[in-house]
Amino acid sequence: ALKCGIVGLPNVGKSTLFNCLSNAKAQSANFPFCTIEPNVGTINVPDERLEKLESLVNPERVVPTTVEIVDIAGLVKGASKGEGLGNQFLGNIRETDAVLHVLRCFEDDNITHVDGSVDPVRDKEVIDAELQLKDLETVETRLDKVKKKAKSGDKESVKQADLFEKLINLLEEGKSVRVYEPANDDEEKMLKELQLLTSKPILYVCNVDEASVKDGNHHVEAVREAVKDEGAEIMVLGAAIEADINELETYEERQMFLEEMGLTQPGVNKLIKTAYKLLKLQTYFTAGEKEVRAWTVRIGAKAPEAAGVIHTDFEKGFIRAEVIKYDDFVELGSEAACRDKGKLSIEGKEYVVQDGDIMNFRFNV
Ligand code: GDP
Repeated sequence: ALKCGIVGLPNVGKSTLFNCLSNAKAQSANFPFCTIEPNVGTINVPDERLEKLESLVNPERVVPTTVEIVDIAGLVKGASKGEGLGNQFLGNIRETDAVLHVLRCFEDDNITHVDGSVDPVRDKEVIDAELQLKDLETVETRLDKVKKKAKSGDKESVKQADLFEKLINLLEEGKSVRVYEPANDDEEKMLKELQLLTSKPILYVCNVDEASVKDGNHHVEAVREAVKDEGAEIMVLGAAIEADINELETYEERQMFLEEMGLTQPGVNKLIKTAYKLLKLQTYFTAGEKEVRAWTVRIGAKAPEAAGVIHTDFEKGFIRAEVIKYDDFVELGSEAACRDKGKLSIEGKEYVVQDGDIMNFRFNV
């Protein structure tokens, strides 16, 4: 499953956000280091199209697609050198596909800040520096390993050493590997294999108080300015207020609360959608009488890969896919009607899956 890691300094609202996302009850207290073990939660990806399909197909069950989130606590200044909870969290980040970096953009004298004042740009730099130091260590170790072979002229090692040196320079300048543009496919492949912490796609989550959820505040503006060249996503969300909304019993109550704040959807929904975009993912559906279901697949994936998301056998024995566009399905109301009107297409191995496709696979067993 896809994994997003939540990082940030202590007391910025990570556990609060994690709880809203997963509805799991991780302990949240006004005390640094309260979350010690990484908490893992599975969240459903909200998608209005699923409800629409449900109303048309009337299946026995509806299954949304999911993303896994991990609350990674213990990141403090000096973490890469073993401070705080030490190095333990770094491994947790390495295993994630994307990072949600929570930044405290709310003022509250009752909530201790580890550095004594609210300054999200400084906080971001503290975390970045730790991750960069760790990456520096990783790349230097790798460089040491290939140096000898590179000197003796081994082609592969020369390429590696060359890339490693470039990355070391960049990291030493206090930059994240994310900003590095690979010179060619080889470099891109090597970069992937390195699995560096600062090369993960990142979404900055500015955690604000109630008054700022709609339009942000000067802290958010400072963050926006600081990250503008990073090719990262940024969003504003009120974790504490989202937690309050979560407590409300009915959908109507929650909707009313949101409207009062000038929002149309819960911030966590927006967060999940933005994370999807960040990860270059899309959704396709299967819509049978037994089950209407959403599946996650890479943007650009071809039909057999999409089939493989359901089962590896579907990919191995792939023959063809029957595809209906979501809009056609909604307009005509059923698979049979789409078939009649020529809105069901038969696609082969080279078909590139589009967001919202309703698919049916034919395969050999
Ligand atoms: P973590 O250490 O980053 O996991 O932070 P927590 O989620 O435990 O939050 C630390 C404290 O800040 C808790 O008392 C939360 O209730 C509070 N908190 C979190 N988000 C907000 C917010 O948006 N506004 C205010 N005023 N307090 C918040």
